[in-house]
Amino acid sequence: MEEAQSASSSGDEKQGMQLYTKILIGMLCGVLLGFFVGPNSSFLSANGAVLSKGATIVTYAGGTEALEVANGVERVAVLEEQSGVPNPGAKGEDATSVWLRVQWTLSSADIVRLKAEGVEAKRGDVHSGWVKTDPMKVRRYSTLGQKLVDWTEWIGRLFLAMIKMVVVPLVFFSLIVGMASLGDFRKLGRMGGVTLGFFTFTTMVALTIGLLLTNLFEPGSILSEVDKATLLGSFTADKVVSSAAGAPSFVDQIVGIVPSNPIASLAAGDMLQVIFFATMLGIAFTLMAADAAKRAVDLCVSINEAMVVLVHVAMKLAPIGVAALLFEVVGSTGLGVLAALGAYGGVVVLGLLTHILIVYMPVVIMGARLPFLGFIQSIRAALVLAFSTSSSSATLPVSMEACENNLNVSNEVASFVLPIGATVNMDGTALYQGVAAVFIAQIYGIDLSVGDQATIVVSATMASIGAAGVPGAGMLTLAMVLAAVGVPVQGVALVIGVDRLLDMFRTATNVVGDCTATSLVARMQGESIAVLTPEADAADPNRGMESRLVEVEPQAVDVDGDA
Ligand code: ASP
Repeated sequence: MEEAQSASSSGDEKQGMQLYTKILIGMLCGVLLGFFVGPNSSFLSANGAVLSKGATIVTYAGGTEALEVANGVERVAVLEEQSGVPNPGAKGEDATSVWLRVQWTLSSADIVRLKAEGVEAKRGDVHSGWVKTDPMKVRRYSTLGQKLVDWTEWIGRLFLAMIKMVVVPLVFFSLIVGMASLGDFRKLGRMGGVTLGFFTFTTMVALTIGLLLTNLFEPGSILSEVDKATLLGSFTADKVVSSAAGAPSFVDQIVGIVPSNPIASLAAGDMLQVIFFATMLGIAFTLMAADAAKRAVDLCVSINEAMVVLVHVAMKLAPIGVAALLFEVVGSTGLGVLAALGAYGGVVVLGLLTHILIVYMPVVIMGARLPFLGFIQSIRAALVLAFSTSSSSATLPVSMEACENNLNVSNEVASFVLPIGATVNMDGTALYQGVAAVFIAQIYGIDLSVGDQATIVVSATMASIGAAGVPGAGMLTLAMVLAAVGVPVQGVALVIGVDRLLDMFRTATNVVGDCTATSLVARMQGESIAVLTPEADAADPNRGMESRLVEVEPQAVDVDGDA
């Protein structure tokens, strides 16, 4: 048995290295595929166009009929492109504009619209007409690239679903075990105090960094008119605008943490309520008869271990899952949008890096007393996942695993600090919201006073706490921040185009923050945390995230056994 274990442990390391390398290769493939064969690729012919609200198709059939895209978007095929007005008789058009001849198959909605305009049409009829290129209303794309994305996006979704499946039960059982083994409640108080203090303080620092950089570089004032139009035209902000409605009051938020029906909280995946209930349940076990408590906690330990195994199984899908996720993001967003938002995106990324270097690095080195590079190396699987999924909550199982196995943080601390972190600690999101709010104000030419900027700090702190750890959550709660300082909420449309890409960077920052807090709390609790060395990894088959991703021979559970 021992022999078998040591044999597998030396093989594990190899296997682990391979998995991590495979994930990186998967990321790279996804980005390259997105760039070369995604819908926005400049290498494929842009034979399709998305027309958004207000785009007008001129048919010139028997006089001039104009079809205006009323709501949402319309996808059409592009047949040809020409400079100058297609019908020289048309008045009021400038001769230098570029026109596209487009073709589309009539949908039921088109028919209703055409009927209203007195044009007879049948469903399925193919129509064609001309549309003037206008970055606000017409976006070209490759239909082949779009098909490739449509065909492969399920792989990314499947991978994400596999990981997300584990999140709620993992947090629940792991936290019960952690709290039950804590014993001394003063420890819990101290842990909670440090955690929340750290989260609030670093969020405010992140916002200050974001605001300072945005005021310094003024990305809003150097954006060209064309780029501004491209950004405003890429998407409609209707969905976001409706979420600007005020946040619940502070007292309501606190009371809301206590679930009136914990089963409903588990089912809904309401993380703060799950954390509260699991903490209370864990504490309850320490207050009852030791025998009965042990039986229950032992069961939780076993289920928790099974969840960890499931994470490992899901991670086997990671290389291809990550490739599919990045293919979709890079392919659909197109790196070109990044260029349009260069200054704004640059300030966000610069801010995030600054935050990592001047806040997290000193805390890791001086507070947690860990070498910073070793720390980053230890949590790299979580970082890669945060980056490619843009979801701190989907990353949670892997960050828990990384902190416990690679940094030797106890289960008590990891299972308490990380889930709270994934839910409320979003420094990257807060920083981004600060930058975005000032950037949008700059574009609208609104001057924000120091008082307004202080309001941004307070409201973005709340908005980042309120944002769920899922893709794009920070952008939705950005509407609250804009409303708080009187900046038009529609301005969100200006940043929506690059949101998904910036989300990857801010989510990775959020996860670094969660792991930093975890290491700090563990050190303050007197734990002997340390970066896992390759030798220790090889020597102990039970340590190291990747090392544990090994082929284990399945064995039937001896259900009737009386051992
Ligand atoms: N995607 C972010 C996260 O999960 C939240 C956000 O900023 O949108 O941490």
